[in-house]
Amino acid sequence: MSAILLNGKACAEMLAEEQRARCDALKARGIIPQLAVIMVGEDPASAVYVRNKERACQRLGIASRMIHLPETASQQELNAQIDALNADPAVHGILVQLPLPGHLNESEALLRVSALKDVDGFHTLNAGRLAQGAPGMLPCTPKGILYLLRQAGVALDGAHAVVLGRSNIVGKPVSLLLLRENCTVTICHSHTRDLPAITRQADILVAAIGKPRFVTADMVKPGAAVIDVGINRVDGKLCGDVDFEGVEQVAGWITPVPGGVGPMTVAMLMENTLEAACRA
Ligand code: NDP
Repeated sequence: MSAILLNGKACAEMLAEEQRARCDALKARGIIPQLAVIMVGEDPASAVYVRNKERACQRLGIASRMIHLPETASQQELNAQIDALNADPAVHGILVQLPLPGHLNESEALLRVSALKDVDGFHTLNAGRLAQGAPGMLPCTPKGILYLLRQAGVALDGAHAVVLGRSNIVGKPVSLLLLRENCTVTICHSHTRDLPAITRQADILVAAIGKPRFVTADMVKPGAAVIDVGINRVDGKLCGDVDFEGVEQVAGWITPVPGGVGPMTVAMLMENTLEAACRA
């Protein structure tokens, strides 16, 4: 058996056409959606991510404002920049590119972003809303994963979803979103005992641990939907947390790396920015 490919790149491109039309409609009403991205320092991976986000904005006609602070910027300078963007009615979405240099407090910066402009969905208020099932800004990677699963017609109601990883940006929020869809959710982490026995029960398996090719074919239930969130570099090549070649022989659906969850994350950032502009 060979799994159906969940092609995030193609899905994001299809969605982009619809998003472009929504962006044009907002502009016709005099609203130019705008995303502001703050990057501090020179982290090369962050620079690539920021450039991708800027390009995605350009493709849709969303205005982008890139603010690059020096590596030595103080917390006060970063806070002042966030405050200015919060107060600017032309800005609908604000994103603080992570990681920040070690001397800066990430949680303080994320909390400072207005919850209404928090297009990353990392603000405690939005995380709390998600936990309580209330409407709010959803984090982009988990939202993109749900979009991919729905597009593919994967049955969610009553499915056993196993999530590997419990980070605030992927593991926890994707677990809550799957729970919202009436999945039975098991969250695993580095202290979980006999992980393969749990993963083999999964109808939906989400791997978000940052360990190259960790999930192997013997850990996957035949026919399962396997979502690979991991982005790892091995010998200069990108790979996910799933051993793609082995697992695609067993799974029912699988996301590739690159071209799976990554493009959907950017697509959902655009979605959140358009939603924020709409509300404004
Ligand atoms: P974190 O490092 O914040 O979290 C990793 C999680 O994996 C932790 O909860 C950790 O457990 C768990 N873990 C580590 N080792 C094991 C193990 N052997 N067995 C079970 N669980 C384990 O990572 P992120 O959530 O930020 O990111 C995960 C991966 O996803 C990374 O590769 C990252 O680059 C990628 N990513 C991709 C995105 C995309 O758009 N495609 C977006 C965001 C991230 P514990 O809590 O016990 O330490």
